[in-house]
Amino acid sequence: MTAATTADVLERTRAFVRRVCLPAEARFGGHDVDPALRAELQEAARAAGVFAPHVGREHGGLGLGIADWPGVFEAAGYSLLGPAALNCAAPDEGNMHLLELTGTPAQQARYLAPLARGELRSCFAMTEPHPGAGSDPDALATTARRVDGGWRIDGAKRFISGADGAAFAICMARAPEGATMFLVDAGTPGFEVGRTMPATDTIVAGGHSEVVLHDCVVPEEAVLGEVGEGFRYAQVRLGPARLTHCMRWLGLARRAHDVALDRTAERELFGARLDQLGLAQGLIADSVIDLAASSALIQTAADALAAGRRAAQETSIAKVFVSEAVFRVVDRSIQLLGGDGVVHDLPVARFLTEVRPFRIYDGPSETHRWAISRRASRLRGAEREA
Ligand SMILES: Cc1cc2nc3c(=O)[nH]c(=O)nc-3n(C[C@H](O)[C@H](O)[C@H](O)COP(=O)(O)OP(=O)(O)OC[C@H]3O[C@@H](n4cnc5c(N)ncnc54)[C@H](O)[C@@H]3O)c2cc1C
Repeated sequence: MTAATTADVLERTRAFVRRVCLPAEARFGGHDVDPALRAELQEAARAAGVFAPHVGREHGGLGLGIADWPGVFEAAGYSLLGPAALNCAAPDEGNMHLLELTGTPAQQARYLAPLARGELRSCFAMTEPHPGAGSDPDALATTARRVDGGWRIDGAKRFISGADGAAFAICMARAPEGATMFLVDAGTPGFEVGRTMPATDTIVAGGHSEVVLHDCVVPEEAVLGEVGEGFRYAQVRLGPARLTHCMRWLGLARRAHDVALDRTAERELFGARLDQLGLAQGLIADSVIDLAASSALIQTAADALAAGRRAAQETSIAKVFVSEAVFRVVDRSIQLLGGDGVVHDLPVARFLTEVRPFRIYDGPSETHRWAISRRASRLRGAEREA
């Protein structure tokens, strides 16, 4: 895609979010996007030429490369409804990317094609109850054993976003050869979606669920990619997926900042406009800096991924900084709005509880800081020896 058409998609996305998603927020009950509203918004996104911007053209998407995602995903994230409308919301977006890279043609036809068309939802099942996989994926306790004609999976998962209502799960389990990903259809005997865990965030379709796999038998064709390569594929999924979270949440932080700027431009206090009072200007300036730095770190990581690099350090740095910066920006916006910041007449109060979990999922800040520091020490060690 040429730069001109990428710019077109960006402009169309901004216009679509302003024209369709922001007004639709008034019809959004506040928990989960209703399937009928989601279908209506997706139809409108198709008509506006902004649907599935990240998906290859051969699968019906707009075919943008990852270096061109940041602006478009941020524009979608400006409304809580934008990512669902464009079909670039988590966890489906990350699963589409993984299926595009690792799925067989048959798996792509069966799972990726309908997912990319927005006909069904999916989930990604990795995290387990303690002492299983969480920050440390090596603790993976769900097992996969070969049986006649396929595999038997046993284990428990939790926090699985979108599991309730998903047509299939990409499930991580430990085979004798190592961690392996399996495509498990909803309705497979032994695959049970349990309790939805009440959480601070509400926007993910289906919420976050507990899942049990008990004597769950899947065929050989259910293996995604190679047996034993699950952790490598998890990185293929999680690097871009944590970056697209950064992009979308940056959009929401920018929205909160805009709401605060609009208010401070009109609110008179102590004989001055609020945006002319120094302490308020300090809050505004710090948010401008957080937004600009987030944008730059996201683009740096996206460019590194686009160049074919694993970009583990770049995506970790962006993930830590952006997940913390968007929280700060939303929090400052709330402060500038005064009491209106914490009541739900304005949308901003809600944004805080939507962005907070991002400092935990896709790797908590501490796990990433630990990894960033170890990579820095390793790199310096190699430089000393060179
Ligand atoms: C809203 C939400 C949605 C999610 N969606 C999914 C999903 O769809 N699929 C899925 O598989 N999982 C999902 N998760 C799970 C998420 O990935 C895990 O919560 C995360 O990996 C942390 O694991 P844990 O909760 O077991 O915390 P733990 O592993 O118990 O970690 C607890 C804390 O330990 C600290 N810590 C971690 N590493 C280090 C370190 N190296 N040094 C010092 N301190 C450290 C951090 O402060 C961390 O928060 C979701 C979680 C949330 C909150």
